[in-house]
Amino acid sequence: MRLKIAIQKSGRLYDDSVKLLKDCGIDLKNGVNKLKTESDNFPMEIYFLRDDDIPQYVEDAVADIGIVGENVLYEKNKKVDIIEHLGFGKCRLSVAVGRSEQYTDCGDLRGKRIATTYPVLVRQFLEKHKVDADIHEISGSVEIAPGIGLADAIVDLVSSGSTLFMNGLKEVETVLQSQAVLIRNGEMQEAQQQILEKFLFRIRAVKKARNTKYILLNAPNEKLNEIIRLLPGMKSPTVLPLAEPGWSSVHSVLNENDFWDIIERLKEAGAQGILVVPIEKMIL
Ligand code: ATP
Ligand code: MG
Repeated sequence: MRLKIAIQKSGRLYDDSVKLLKDCGIDLKNGVNKLKTESDNFPMEIYFLRDDDIPQYVEDAVADIGIVGENVLYEKNKKVDIIEHLGFGKCRLSVAVGRSEQYTDCGDLRGKRIATTYPVLVRQFLEKHKVDADIHEISGSVEIAPGIGLADAIVDLVSSGSTLFMNGLKEVETVLQSQAVLIRNGEMQEAQQQILEKFLFRIRAVKKARNTKYILLNAPNEKLNEIIRLLPGMKSPTVLPLAEPGWSSVHSVLNENDFWDIIERLKEAGAQGILVVPIEKMIL
C-alpha cells in the first residue's frame, strides 16, 4: 500500500515540493521515468504532472493527495479538501492596468476588456464588486495583452511585480493571495489514511522548524531574569554557567517573525555573543 502524491512536473512549485519531501525524510528514487517514481524509505508514490491537472487527478483519486497553488485550486473548483498550507509558492492574483491609466476603484473596470488565464476567479471577483466587464481568456503571456491592444487590463499572478513593471503596467487590485497547499481526496482507504497521518506529522515538524531558530547567548547573571523574559522557549530556556564566574549561557528558540525585534531587545538587555542557528525538525 502506497500513498500517491501528485506534484508539479517542472515549474515554480517543483523545487519546493521535492524539498519538502526530502526534509520529511522521504527519498525519491532517481529513475528514468519522468511521470512517476516512488520512495525507497517511505510508502509513497510520486506523480509528476502539470499543475493545472493536479486538482482533477486528486478528485478522481488517481492521486490521493497533491501539492498545488491555491490560485489553481480555486480556479478549477474540484471536490478536494485542503489539509495544510505549505508556506511556499507565495504570490497574488492581481488586476493590473497601464501605468498611465487613471484608476481609483473596481468601478473603473466597468465595460473594459480583461485578459487572464483565470476566468473563473476573475468572474467571481467582478460579481462580488458588481462590475460588468469582458473577460478574455488566454493561455499565457497575459502581461503583453494591453501593449498589443488585446485588453485594457489584465488579471495575473504577481510576486515581485517586476514583470508588470517591465510591461508598463501597475498593480491596482488583489483578487487572491495564494500559496501552495496540500490537498486530498475526500475518501481514502484506511491504509493510505495512516500513511497520510505520518506524512502530515513530518510536514508539521518541518514547517515548525522552518519558522523557528535556535538561539544561544551569553549574559551576566544579574541580567538573566530580564533576558529570560524575552525568550520563552519551548518550555523555558536552558541556562548553563560559563567558566567565567558571574556569567551564564542561555539557550532557547525564537519565532522567525519576532526575530529582529527580540535580538535588539536582547542586546539592549546586555546579551553578548549571540548565535542563531537553523533547526532541522521540531517536534512539540
Ligand atoms: P505547468 O507547466 O505545471 O502548468 P505553469 O506554467 O502553469 O506550470 P508555474 O509558472 O510553474 O506554472 O507556476 C506554478 C505555481 O507557482 C502558480 O500556479 C502559483 O501558485 C505559484 N507561483 C508563485 N509565484 C509565482 C509567480 N510570480 N508567478 C506565477 N506563479 C507563481
Ligand atoms: Mg499550469
